[in-house]
Amino acid sequence: MSKRVVVVGGGIAGLTAFREIRRQSPDSEAILLEGSPRLGGKILTSDFLGRPVDEGADAFITRVPWAVELSKELGLEAILTRPATSNAYVLVDGELRKLPEGLVLGVPTKLVPLLKSRIVSPLAALRAGFDRFLPDDWPGDDESVGGLIRRRMGDQIADRLVDPLIGSINAGDTDHLDAALAAPQLETAARRNRSLIMGLREQAKNSSQSSGPVFLGFENGMTQLTETLASSVSGSDIRTGVPVTAVEVSGNNLRVITDAQSFESDVVIIAAPAHQAAHLVASCQTAANRLSSIEHASVALVTMGFKREDVGNSLDGSGVLVPRSEGLLTTAVSWGSSKWPHWADDGHAIFRVSAGRAGDTRALALDDTDLVEALLTEIAHILDIEGNLIEWRVSRWIDAFPQYAPGHDRLVAAIERDLRSHMPGVFLTGAGYKGLGIPACIHQGGQAARAALDYLRTS
Ligand SMILES: Cc1cc2nc3c(=O)[nH]c(=O)nc-3n(C[C@H](O)[C@H](O)[C@H](O)COP(=O)(O)OP(=O)(O)OC[C@H]3O[C@@H](n4cnc5c(N)ncnc54)[C@H](O)[C@@H]3O)c2cc1C
Repeated sequence: MSKRVVVVGGGIAGLTAFREIRRQSPDSEAILLEGSPRLGGKILTSDFLGRPVDEGADAFITRVPWAVELSKELGLEAILTRPATSNAYVLVDGELRKLPEGLVLGVPTKLVPLLKSRIVSPLAALRAGFDRFLPDDWPGDDESVGGLIRRRMGDQIADRLVDPLIGSINAGDTDHLDAALAAPQLETAARRNRSLIMGLREQAKNSSQSSGPVFLGFENGMTQLTETLASSVSGSDIRTGVPVTAVEVSGNNLRVITDAQSFESDVVIIAAPAHQAAHLVASCQTAANRLSSIEHASVALVTMGFKREDVGNSLDGSGVLVPRSEGLLTTAVSWGSSKWPHWADDGHAIFRVSAGRAGDTRALALDDTDLVEALLTEIAHILDIEGNLIEWRVSRWIDAFPQYAPGHDRLVAAIERDLRSHMPGVFLTGAGYKGLGIPACIHQGGQAARAALDYLRTS
């Protein structure tokens, strides 16, 4: 009899896992159950001022191979597009300051450009330079990103550069994010070298990937990736609008329960967010409790459109990051119409304005109109906007960003052990565990599928 595999969740991780199962084991019976009416999860592109504009992720990093490889496999290479500019800004005391050259995830490796940028005080730039002379003071595993940066380079570098940058990728507070997971490049550099700056310079020297764009997106938006991925397995049993309510052990098998029916299965890959997975595996209480202990942050992303002539700023960059110390609701503004070359200049300026991060839930408390008004007041000041908003939309991403607290990798290993012992055949994948960027989710989806197939072969 053919074996059955059920994948729960049709975001990028679940779709990748499903495709891998179909490719590697065409004889098995694979079913994908997605709770919402559409596939893609946090990847969503929709029309805004007549063009496809992402409501969530709009680019992926190319310094790890998995998203680029998948795009090539799906025949999407020709429509990959790179940001038009690598300039970006940070807000300091209400003013835009250009990020200096030589930054690696917010860490300055060149001190003269840092000094000239006026992002930190001359004293703070000097303090950052001490990194090269300070003795090795690594406190051991489980250090936070903030801990690492503060001890090597001082508070201003942490607060005005690294937290805005790495914090905005994770909607997190870098003082509570695991350095090895949220910023592996920095952690490795600091571990391999007494000095963080020297370690990063050494990495750059040895890197074979220094050329080429750091980020890529798609001309028609990120949904191009999930839609093409779903089409690549068309004809398979993919069901949307079918939320799974529980996964249970049933004799030697597993049972996947939905409101309308249940499915017996040999293997289940849960590709739903960790807080959802916690409910699904409630019958294994230790795993459920551990999954529930992973905190998540929420973000509101407001897309705003103006007439270009109403925006005074020259917009010669991809956007601006806003450190917590500025006290604003806005955490970042992506200048979409400058960032993406395929958004041909049609006289509009389109911004994606983010609000909300770990420890800041003010945006959640505002209704859409109040939120837009509050953000509009802030960005009008920052970008010198005089005219009216001509179109806007609010995309709320509740509990969308898992927070990898120090020790997260051990927590995940413990959850996997719990499931192996009490719910053999259940595998977890996706942003909650081993990387939340699109490439990491693709990688994990493939890994979960291969682990599931190995389990089927050996059980
Ligand atoms: C605003 C925003 C901006 C981002 N920007 C970027 C970026 O620029 N670059 C980048 O690399 N990453 C970015 N990310 C992160 C990245 O998009 C996500 O981490 C990634 O898409 C998550 O994929 P996933 O498959 O793990 O989970 P999800 O996309 O959350 O998919 C999980 C799926 O499971 C379904 N589901 C949940 N519960 C059930 C259930 N009980 N039964 C059935 N189905 C269920 C959900 O409906 C969903 O479709 C961004 C995220 C957000 C929110």
